[in-house]
Amino acid sequence: MKFRDLGAQYQQLKAEIDTAISQVLEGSAFILGQQVGELEQRLADYVGVRHCVSCANGTDALQLVLMAWGIGPGDAVFTSNFTFFASAGCASILGAQPVLVDIEPDTFNLCPDDLERRIAQVKAEGRLTPRAIIPVDLFGQPADYPRIEAIARRHGLLVLEDGAQGFGGAVEGKRVCGFGDAAITSFFPAKPLGCYGDGGAIFTDDDRLATTLRSLRAQGRSPQDKYDNREIGMNSRLDTLQAAILLPKLKAFEDHELEAVNQVAAWYDARLKGQVITPVVRAGYTSSWAQYTIRLQDARQRDGLQQHLRQQGIPSMVYYPRGLHQQGAFLHLGLGDEDYPQTSAATRQVLSLPMHPYLREEEVDQVCRAVLAYLRGDAGTV
Ligand SMILES: *Cc1c(COP(=O)(O)O)cnc(C)c1O
Repeated sequence: MKFRDLGAQYQQLKAEIDTAISQVLEGSAFILGQQVGELEQRLADYVGVRHCVSCANGTDALQLVLMAWGIGPGDAVFTSNFTFFASAGCASILGAQPVLVDIEPDTFNLCPDDLERRIAQVKAEGRLTPRAIIPVDLFGQPADYPRIEAIARRHGLLVLEDGAQGFGGAVEGKRVCGFGDAAITSFFPAKPLGCYGDGGAIFTDDDRLATTLRSLRAQGRSPQDKYDNREIGMNSRLDTLQAAILLPKLKAFEDHELEAVNQVAAWYDARLKGQVITPVVRAGYTSSWAQYTIRLQDARQRDGLQQHLRQQGIPSMVYYPRGLHQQGAFLHLGLGDEDYPQTSAATRQVLSLPMHPYLREEEVDQVCRAVLAYLRGDAGTV
């Protein structure tokens, strides 16, 4: 069994993907070929925003937006403490200070109450200027945008949605990557919509921001004169090959994959609910199930279950074994577990089970039988 079976997906879409790849090879427009523009239009339409600007990966996408906003030394950027490193690294690399926010225990997403507290703290200290919030749609579920956007408005902060894991999710029908002032996603192969290498995209309704981003992804060149570089940018474009691969993949994602992962989640829920803490999807929210993450009692039980699954040939992952405050690059911030009780508890209790659109019901059965057998056997030793 695979944790995420990219091979099964390729076998389903092989004819279309192979054709798309050879068309790019025949055409030789490897950089910003016609497929890139076509994909950007399709993605913007799917999300429901005016602009999609593709780039080399999700990490660059975050950095490009912060660069376009002029964020740098002396600025505070608020983000979740329980996420992939890039959500905070994008601020540090520009000389700004990431301010890590604790999470909600049920959704694992940024906690609006803790966000308010930390904004107030930064303002009271007066050392940094609060500039932006980067909420993360962790494991596929959108963050609490209604509350986060209200907080941002009240404090005059920009919102950059990190939808790297959330593409396809929604709140009350409004799709992920349509929240905040700008949003990003990643096409890393294992993300809900993945390509066959690195890729990323930025979404916004802001015309000026979109123009600036198109310049910044190409060395800061002028839109009028490509040999006049008016600002310092990056070289961060999505390869035509990856765009061509993503076009049939986006179609499959829309046609059946998003529905399929929700079916897999429902199969898991039906078998595991009441036995372990199963993922909570809020009323009115839709998840794209980047991960199906259960919660155990403690690290001993979690690690024991992971080992038991491994012995049965069932892969599982710990996303994430530590909060960002415990990452080597952020130890200098001097933050302790006591500052982040919810993040710290989650790092000890979470376990992500196999999840992808081509997982069969028998396989879900096999995983759940193994989980339940372990819990029965483990009960006596607690
Ligand atoms: C994967 C990921 C990124 C970075 O995307 P890359 O394409 O790998 O650079 C950023 N944020 C989150 C939450 C992610 O999961």
